[in-house]
Amino acid sequence: MTYPALTPAEQSRYEWQMWVRDFGETGQRRLKAASVLISRIGGVGGTVAMHLATAGVGRLVLAHAGDLRLNDLNRQLLMSTADVGSPRIESAARRLRELNPQVVVETVNENLDVSNVGRYVSQVDLVVSAAPLFVERLAMNRAAVRQRKPLVDCAMYDLEGRLITVRPGRTPCLDCLYPESPPLWKREFPVFGAVASTVASIAAMEVIKLLAGFGKPLENQLLSYDLREMSFQTIAIARRPDCPTCGQLSA
Ligand SMILES: [Zn+2]
Repeated sequence: MTYPALTPAEQSRYEWQMWVRDFGETGQRRLKAASVLISRIGGVGGTVAMHLATAGVGRLVLAHAGDLRLNDLNRQLLMSTADVGSPRIESAARRLRELNPQVVVETVNENLDVSNVGRYVSQVDLVVSAAPLFVERLAMNRAAVRQRKPLVDCAMYDLEGRLITVRPGRTPCLDCLYPESPPLWKREFPVFGAVASTVASIAAMEVIKLLAGFGKPLENQLLSYDLREMSFQTIAIARRPDCPTCGQLSA
């Protein structure tokens, strides 16, 4: 595959990151050719989108229904106080285009579920799941595995963050890890914006590595950390041969 050339403005905009070892201009051109679906553009997904836009990922598809509320603003960095009461997705897209007009931003003013997720996953190269509800995360996981697209799944609670990268056929998927949805998972929960930003920044870097093809992605490991204690760990995870989603897939 040939990747699109960079314009002089892009050469300048991305200069500092093109100095990164193993990334360079080739990595930047790969990002320019790439597309990512981000489900929910709140504290985590919005900050992932911000980093992918500033890094020059060519096309971002953002999905999130609903209007901005005042109690979103402790963590949703793409939003402004003046946008309270307006559709969240519009504020996010406007801010991303201000950050980087060279990136194509597409908006979906609905949340992903089993009825629409396959269609949106089919339009991109990679999926970021930043949804608070398990049913939505599992729907994205299943669509990504079915279409053999990488998925980065992020979660947070209180001062804790968690992240896995699913590479269908190579790593466990979300269904391997959670054969049953955790019953206590809620849409609203205690959290600081700084926790959302850490998990989002780690996820964005993981996406950039996967798209540009450098570094070592988080394969067969769950990253888990607790900023209350400043403890960080990676836990080995394995595919379940009887996983209904990925058990039959080969690498
Ligand atoms: Zn699985």
